[in-house]
Amino acid sequence: MLRRKERWTRQVSERRKFTDYEKKTVYARGNGRCAICGKPLKFDDMTIDHKIPLSRGGTNEFSNLQPACLTCNIMKGNLEVSEFFGKLKEIYKFSKRQRFHKIIVGDKIW
Ligand SMILES: [Zn+2]
Repeated sequence: MLRRKERWTRQVSERRKFTDYEKKTVYARGNGRCAICGKPLKFDDMTIDHKIPLSRGGTNEFSNLQPACLTCNIMKGNLEVSEFFGKLKEIYKFSKRQRFHKIIVGDKIW
């Protein structure tokens, strides 16, 4: 079961497999939490995220690696961290606007 998940992770991320040493180091450096959403991560569930994607000239140096849960890693895709948070802000603003719209248009306040 674990093996299948690993294969899937690799397919999704299309990056080379990290050694145990690299994974453990990244995990320890991130204090066992996803660097994007901050949730505690099980070591087995961790994916390694590149702060600057390889496709944008990022490296496999530890300074460019951070632990991330699979959901965040997929969501982030090829965006850089700052862009990702910008995107989140956009999503947040959009949903707030939708709610505001509902309040104005709807006949009830809530
Ligand atoms: Zn996460």
